[in-house]
Amino acid sequence: MTTEEKMNHAAPPEALRYSVKFTSSNYPYLPSHPLCTEIGTPYLTSPGVHLISKPSTDLTSLRDFLAGYGEDLHFLQYLEDESIDDATQLCKLAGQLCYMSFSPRRTKNSEASRYFDNIKQSGHGSVLEHANFSFLFYGVSRSLTHELVRHRAGFAFSQVSQRYCSGKVVRFVERPEYSRDPELHSLFLQRIDRAAKEYDELAENLLRKQKSGSEILSAEAKTDLRKKVQQAARSVLPNETEAPIVVTANVRAWRHFIEMRANLHAETEIRELAFRVYLCFNATEPILFDDYETVCLPDGTYAVNTPYSKV
Ligand SMILES: Cc1cc2nc3c(=O)[nH]c(=O)nc-3n(C[C@H](O)[C@H](O)[C@H](O)COP(=O)(O)OP(=O)(O)OC[C@H]3O[C@@H](n4cnc5c(N)ncnc54)[C@H](O)[C@@H]3O)c2cc1C
Repeated sequence: MTTEEKMNHAAPPEALRYSVKFTSSNYPYLPSHPLCTEIGTPYLTSPGVHLISKPSTDLTSLRDFLAGYGEDLHFLQYLEDESIDDATQLCKLAGQLCYMSFSPRRTKNSEASRYFDNIKQSGHGSVLEHANFSFLFYGVSRSLTHELVRHRAGFAFSQVSQRYCSGKVVRFVERPEYSRDPELHSLFLQRIDRAAKEYDELAENLLRKQKSGSEILSAEAKTDLRKKVQQAARSVLPNETEAPIVVTANVRAWRHFIEMRANLHAETEIRELAFRVYLCFNATEPILFDDYETVCLPDGTYAVNTPYSKV
């Protein structure tokens, strides 16, 4: 049996082990809770995914614009349509403007899913570029973010600086391969205790050398002094060091990211992240992602499939 054949195509998002939470203003998130080794080295075992910004769409001022066309066109009725999610409305308006589809014969909001099926099928994904969403990701490793920042078109990144931030905020990320195996888990705990200790000792050593006048570690400003120490000390931090990051992208770019990374061939940790991002979108703007099918892979992780990739 091939891996594809072993996939369980039946699992709907509701049946998954994840539970998407919502803020009071209805922003979805999937938190991750830090743990500690016996001597207090902090680590996380899953990605925290928090949607922190999404479009807010208000069409009411378009009355002036729509009223400027012939009364026989009945464009003002566009504003009487039922409400739909903000990003969906924004992209639908952008698409409908292209053909001035504001008359009563246009595709109504109740048929938005069919409207976006056409957009996706025909590859007119540029209308999805109007809607930007920002997430905070944490509980993700530096090796994950190294892959994440390869996504260029439509993306913005702000990642924690290992030069500006001290060892006090250093945490680590345990891969599922380790957390599911007692021996690998124990080795992970020992390794991060060692890494944290080595980082602290090296930083102290560098600080001592800086105070005793080392040329290469010298600087005018206080923050630059700290930076000189930390930029050298970080060289001993492993790939499994946590790297919190704020990521903004438009819906077209997020779709491409999800398709590339919530994918059988993607690396396990980033696949978990991409799947959680998909769950957040599924919870907040389902129409823009309703062509995605959840797939349970043989290793127990999840992926998505779509007939409309890279719109
Ligand atoms: C399973 C997997 C394995 C990988 N293995 C490796 C590896 O071994 N080594 C490695 O270096 N990378 C690897 N990558 C990263 C991969 O090569 C891409 O850098 C990454 O997935 C981002 O994809 P992208 O360029 O399509 O996305 P984006 O940068 O977001 O671009 C989106 C789309 O915009 C268009 N585009 C963007 N920039 C340009 C441009 N400059 N010119 C023309 N068109 C453009 C393209 O159509 C592109 O697909 C891997 C990725 C995956 C998913």
